[in-house]
This record gives sequence, C-alpha cells and structure tokens, in this order.
Amino acid sequence: MSFSVDNTTTSFPHLRDLIRALPEKICTYLLIGILTLLIFYLSLITTSQPLSSSESQSVARAISLLEQKGFRGEAFLLRNVATFRRWDNWLNELAESENAYAATNFPFEIITLYPDFFEKAVDDTERAMILLHEAQHLKGASEKTAYETVWRNRTKLGWTLISHGVTETYVTIELQTREHSPELFTCSKNLWNDCTESLLARK
Ligand SMILES: [Zn+2]
Repeated sequence: MSFSVDNTTTSFPHLRDLIRALPEKICTYLLIGILTLLIFYLSLITTSQPLSSSESQSVARAISLLEQKGFRGEAFLLRNVATFRRWDNWLNELAESENAYAATNFPFEIITLYPDFFEKAVDDTERAMILLHEAQHLKGASEKTAYETVWRNRTKLGWTLISHGVTETYVTIELQTREHSPELFTCSKNLWNDCTESLLARK
C-alpha cells in the first residue's frame, strides 16, 4: 500500500510538469516549422529572378482583364498573394515543367513565368487564361481541376474557339485539357465532341 501511495504522490507532480511544459514545446516546434518554411521560401526566391518592368506591366494587364471578366477571387490572389518570377528556381529545375508557359509552387505561392508566356501567348486574354490556370494552383487545386476550370470558363473569359481557336496556345491548351479531362470531350452532338462547346457538330 505504501508503495502505491508513494507512487501516486511522485507521478502526479511529474505529469503536471509535463502538461505545464506542453505549450512551450508546441510553440518551439511551431517556430521551427515556420522558420524551415521561411528558409525554403527564401531559397526559392533568391535562386530565381524578378520580372522586368515590361513583364510586370504585361502581368498587371492580364490580372486586370481577369478582374473585369468576373474572376475577382483569382485576381485578388494573383495581385496580393502571388510572387512572380522569371525562369526557374532550384525546385522547378529538379521537377519536369508542367507546361511551357508557367509553373506554380504551392503553398509558397510563387508563379514562374517562362518566355512563352510573354512571347507565344498572342495577347492579354491568352495571358489571363494562363494566369487563371495558375490561380487554381495558388488555391491548392490539382492539374485536372486547373485545366477544367479554364476550359469551362473560356467563354466568360473571352478566349473561345472563334476568337483564339487558331493560335498555338489555344491548340496546345486544348490538347492538354483533353489529356487531363477526357470526360469533357464525350459529347458527340457538339463540335469536336466538346461538352463545353456551344457550337454544334455538322451531321
Ligand atoms: Zn497547372
């Protein structure tokens, strides 16, 4: 009995000490986690270059266009949360680029814009379309969701078969969307079997 009592009286204070030290321990681990993320983020920023002023202006015009077309949430994220860089940071260099236009590092909210974004995209609308895709990644969306969102919203954006159907970017993005979301292209009554296309196929 005396052993049991002794045991109880010695273990409770020990438990109390542990509980008392818990918030301090959680804070320490949290701080280490935040510092690690910060160092990682800074390494991504310092191993890449900022946009030139003309490139920044081009991005600003594309974001404004997104806002005008009703994509206010995406425009807000791109304007206030994203950090734009030109060419790859060390992490992008390790991974295969998803496309030739842009890449996003989530959750660091860094968007890298490649030369094709400025040179191959024919106008601000095409650049807005690419930013609409990357904005989905800023929200943590998958590749499939990003392609689907753009494809389903291309009429709202003003980037359609009629306005841009012959550009290299339109053709490339259509092929990539077919790859990622084949179920969008199963409507035989619509032009090119595209369920999102309002133009009907000729029979
Ligand atoms: Zn993507």
